[in-house]
Amino acid sequence: MEEWVCTVYGYIYDPTGGIEPRMSFADLPEDWVCPECSWGKDLFERTLRVQARSCHKL
Ligand SMILES: [Zn+2]
Repeated sequence: MEEWVCTVYGYIYDPTGGIEPRMSFADLPEDWVCPECSWGKDLFERTLRVQARSCHKL
């Protein structure tokens, strides 16, 4: 599952997490802002959920 993390505050946007309408990050409106820090989408970076057994450093 694809997640997006806010590089400012660390907020993780998870489209299956039950917050917001369940939209993929790319489908959010351009004026959507982080609910934690109110910065825009351009401050988010895509991250992939890592399985517990693969412990590579990011
Ligand atoms: Zn944020």
